[in-house]
Amino acid sequence: MSGVEQPSTSPAEFEQVLESAAAAAPALGAMSPGERARLLRAVAAGLRARRDELVPLADADSALGEARLVGEVERTAVQFEMFAEAVDEGSWLEAVIDRANPEGPLGPQPDLRRMLVPLGPVAVFGASNFPFAFGLAGGDTASALAAGCPVVAKVHPAQPRLSGPYAEVVAKSLAAAGAPEGTFGVVSGLESGRALVMDPRITAVGFTGSTSGGRALADLAAGRPSPVPFYGELGSLNPVFVTPAAAAARGEGIVRDYLASVGLGAGQFCTKPGLLLVPEDSGMAEIVAAEADTAPVTLLHDGIGDAYVDGTRALATHPAVRILAGAPEGDGRTVRPVLARTTIAELAGFRDELLAERFGPFSLVMTYRDADELRSAVALLEGSLTAGVHAAGPDDGDAAALLPLLAPLAGRVLWNSWPTGVAVTWAQHHGGPHPSTTSIHTSVGATAMRRFLRPIAYQSIPDALLPAALADANPLGIPRRVDGVLTPEPPA
Ligand code: NAP
Repeated sequence: MSGVEQPSTSPAEFEQVLESAAAAAPALGAMSPGERARLLRAVAAGLRARRDELVPLADADSALGEARLVGEVERTAVQFEMFAEAVDEGSWLEAVIDRANPEGPLGPQPDLRRMLVPLGPVAVFGASNFPFAFGLAGGDTASALAAGCPVVAKVHPAQPRLSGPYAEVVAKSLAAAGAPEGTFGVVSGLESGRALVMDPRITAVGFTGSTSGGRALADLAAGRPSPVPFYGELGSLNPVFVTPAAAAARGEGIVRDYLASVGLGAGQFCTKPGLLLVPEDSGMAEIVAAEADTAPVTLLHDGIGDAYVDGTRALATHPAVRILAGAPEGDGRTVRPVLARTTIAELAGFRDELLAERFGPFSLVMTYRDADELRSAVALLEGSLTAGVHAAGPDDGDAAALLPLLAPLAGRVLWNSWPTGVAVTWAQHHGGPHPSTTSIHTSVGATAMRRFLRPIAYQSIPDALLPAALADANPLGIPRRVDGVLTPEPPA
């Protein structure tokens, strides 16, 4: 793939990594939120301290460029710090206490106390396009550790230089901060990845990658004698709808920003706007043709380059499509951007060919005749991570009519903005209906922890024997719901 071979994990090493992860689970799960937050902050500090050593390795693997990769290390560190804050705050435990009530509406009720607890060892598959932020210790790993789950990460074959040192920084930072041995391990090789999903010690899988790879591994996870949740964050089309009024008011500016968003990371973003819907008579397709930068770009590896050229070539010869700019040609991982054009009228007949994710610097401009036709397109689209509308303002009636149609289609609905750039915050939702994910959860933002936790209710357990999160005195000082009332009460 990159000329640097990665040895596969031997059966003996595999066994040792899995056994250590299983042994670490009870101790890691029993750490207090404060202790676990300290582990997460240690990884953030370790990554920043070794950034200048890691970035050139990631660049040699991926050709993503130093500036972008420096930013990605920072993003990865910030992710760990955000989870540290979330762990400290404690609402993620969802602690609920219903004290015994001898006069309940249906008769006497026992003392019931419910909280979330870690699942156990989690397998993580990172993607090639974000070597740090969605890689070995990206958001999946950070959220699983935050939840109290040891992680066994599968090394990506497109990151042969980075993987070893990256894993070492994470493991050493965790160990130095007092993490149980086995909290973080790695395995490599296709078969090790499959064995990981099938291993009975693995309790959940976080996957970021292609729709086909995700589907194959999701089927494996579901077919286990004891099935486990599989959280697949997959590819996505991310349609963007431009209303007639928005096109008239600022069509040229929208095209400029669209081209910038498509070109980020050479189009290798799961949030790339792969489809732009514009009015037929707006001239926006012609502006795309005139302004697109079609200089060659370097993709992550030859396999992605070949798939890109095959995919864009198939469209270039499609009767429903016209190339606006660029050419479907390439040499290994070096390819040319391609912008193409079709109409909504063609969509019904050729939906699958037109709307497949083409990973790389490609996007399709689809023209529509009127707002009714624009709305009719929504029914033909599949689930996406994001869907956006560009409007003339809050009183643009076409945009207001589109918004409720977009909500069932996507996990994040955008207004006058672009899907690339996924903020790491408490309110973020990075997910969406199938085929963009195989899950209803987010892989970015504080609630990503939810994937690796399960609820448990304790009935009539003596106070001294309850987990600290549920004890009467609330020794952790966390927000809880007691007899139906949030305590402490949230700010007005
Ligand atoms: P990929 O080829 O699917 O690889 C991801 C990982 O899964 C690799 O470790 C790969 O290992 C493994 N894998 C894939 N198929 C497998 C199979 N059948 N059996 C066992 N292991 C398998 O994905 P990628 O090329 O790295 O990433 C690009 C894709 O990720 C794009 O579609 C992009 O949109 C998506 N992505 C999504 C998000 C999101 O958050 N939704 C974020 C970033 C990227 P092997 O190569 O050894 O098989």
